[in-house]
Amino acid sequence: MPEQLQSWEFAENVFAACTNRIQGYSKSPYAELNLGYHVGDEAEWVRLNRLQVKTQLALPTEPHWLNQVHGSQVIEITKVGTGMIPEADGSYTTMVNEVLAIQVADCLPILISAVNGSEIMALHAGWRSLQAGIIQQGLSRLGSNDLRAWIGPGIRQCHFEVGLELYKVFDETYFCPGDDAQHLNLDLAGYAADLLRKGGVTDIIDTQICTVCCNDTYFSHRLEGPTGRFAALLWKAN
Ligand SMILES: [Zn+2]
Repeated sequence: MPEQLQSWEFAENVFAACTNRIQGYSKSPYAELNLGYHVGDEAEWVRLNRLQVKTQLALPTEPHWLNQVHGSQVIEITKVGTGMIPEADGSYTTMVNEVLAIQVADCLPILISAVNGSEIMALHAGWRSLQAGIIQQGLSRLGSNDLRAWIGPGIRQCHFEVGLELYKVFDETYFCPGDDAQHLNLDLAGYAADLLRKGGVTDIIDTQICTVCCNDTYFSHRLEGPTGRFAALLWKAN
């Protein structure tokens, strides 16, 4: 296991990993380990990067990539190899050896697992998806009441300056002053964590990693414009 890729046990039979931008085939501005086909990178580099991740993490199958649209649709993964890439911002399964995958470059990847390992879920949580209710939608699909959640690298309050249009959307408790009087910074991860708690998830691991602060390691769309995507992956083993 290369130390560049983090992988860890979520429950006894549940494994998670978060990729980064280090050591892959893509060139600037996608350098190096871009996993997104949709961002303008050479398709061959993305294919090789995905293959590298699959090999390095010893993934049981090709991940179930989603066509993420900043919505609240969460789909169940029921079988291998349909060949379709569904339009959704979250997926879940009770099956073994099916790899859930979320691509990000500032939006929060959120992984959720039943503590007993019976079911797993991966969510793409930018402000639009969170506002659209993706966490509530997702939690309503899970049968277990004993859940563990992980909030991955994303743009954090230190760098998430937003305009006036969002002040009405989120409660004032999630804002702090920005660089000037015209702007406030939004605590998206804090909002996501509160939604998880309201949904009954009390066991929350927050990486507290900011993709802008840690841009050498992770892609940031806000900072870089066109850039790559890293991924959070979650799967159950036998
Ligand atoms: Zn930051």
